[in-house]
Amino acid sequence: MDFEWSFEQKTFRESMRKFAEKEVSPGIIERDMKGEFNWEAWKKAGEFGILGLPIPEEYGGGGADIMTMMAGMEGFGLGCRDAGFYLSLAAHTIIGEIPIWKFGSEKQKLKYLPKMCSGEWVSAYGLSEPDAGSDAISLRTSAIRKADHYILNGTKMFITNGPIADVVVVFATVDRSKGPKGITAFIVEKGSLGFSVSRALDKMGQRTSPTGELVFEDCAVPLENRLGEEGQGMPILIESLEWERACLLTGSIGVCEYELARCVKYANERVQFGKPIGQFQLIQERLANMKWRLEASRLLVYRAAWMKQKGIPARMEAAIAKLVMSETRVANSLDAVQIHGGYGYMREFEVERVLRDSIAATIGAGSTEIQKITIARHLLSKKG
Ligand SMILES: Cc1cc2nc3c(=O)[nH]c(=O)nc-3n(C[C@H](O)[C@H](O)[C@H](O)COP(=O)(O)OP(=O)(O)OC[C@H]3O[C@@H](n4cnc5c(N)ncnc54)[C@H](O)[C@@H]3O)c2cc1C
Repeated sequence: MDFEWSFEQKTFRESMRKFAEKEVSPGIIERDMKGEFNWEAWKKAGEFGILGLPIPEEYGGGGADIMTMMAGMEGFGLGCRDAGFYLSLAAHTIIGEIPIWKFGSEKQKLKYLPKMCSGEWVSAYGLSEPDAGSDAISLRTSAIRKADHYILNGTKMFITNGPIADVVVVFATVDRSKGPKGITAFIVEKGSLGFSVSRALDKMGQRTSPTGELVFEDCAVPLENRLGEEGQGMPILIESLEWERACLLTGSIGVCEYELARCVKYANERVQFGKPIGQFQLIQERLANMKWRLEASRLLVYRAAWMKQKGIPARMEAAIAKLVMSETRVANSLDAVQIHGGYGYMREFEVERVLRDSIAATIGAGSTEIQKITIARHLLSKKG
């Protein structure tokens, strides 16, 4: 067991922190109010080479191993005050690119990945539907084969990057009666006839990340855009969710670290009853709780990532990491608001935004309840 980042990983973590701090964070209060995506930072992120970190270099990616990617994402979270931008970047890299890298044909990889890694094309992942969220396998979007193409019909809901995506990995069923065995994945390009963004959704937090509802009405998708074999969507879905659960929240470690440092500073500076509030045990308890939650989450996230790096199946460990990290993020940001008192409730102090940004962590990529079900199922299938 080795808990030390290598020199290169530490350097990369720091360069990601600096990049996010300088190029992504400025102007966040206004962008959050307007719900505006930072296109300039997106272009710079492409130039900086971080929009395809785990993708092999031959497809235009960074060729980073999982632990190095984690070190970078953690640093990014530490410097990035724009949680929506982080969500868009992580969704693009992890659930947009990875299914194509892992399951795409050579032709698909060469066509899509270089443009995605450079940032020229933004990607999205279309699984959830208005009536199929936690129970994603009950999805209704249909794909009917007609000679050399499929006809897609259905609606996808809550899709990160949906309104700005050039490429969407879409899950549909070729035959609902087959259940999971009917699920098939497709790569659908913006501009395909019958594919549209019916509306952009207004959110409580992560407001700078565009989220949308996507509609497919007799949308013809060429056979060559099928990802993997017909009826083989489940392995793609499971693998991408495992990556998402193990890696997407890494930035949260950095976010919680930044938040805790800010709270410690405030607790030392804010004086009430003639003393800094950090000298009151009830405030100390909140700070201590924030710290142990952060450190416990950190180790669980690292372990899940390390297992993925080693090629060890990590379904339960990824579920535990996702559950604990997301709950930590919400609990810590509630503590941060409380420690800052009335100032914490005001927009200009930026503490309330972290709370709003954090809530989605326990819902997306499988809610807390679904992670608990996954853990219990795993235990029961192993008979204890
Ligand atoms: C900011 C954001 C970004 C997202 N981005 C994407 C994206 O890019 N692509 C995509 O496909 N989806 C995306 N989603 C959708 C997300 O994956 C779903 O919201 C999530 O899976 C939950 O589904 P639901 O919202 O329909 O809630 P539901 O499934 O309706 O759940 C409602 C409540 O019931 C609970 N529940 C459900 N089933 C059970 C059960 N068996 N036992 C106990 N409790 C249960 C849930 O935990 C939840 O508390 C995003 C969501 C958010 C908030």
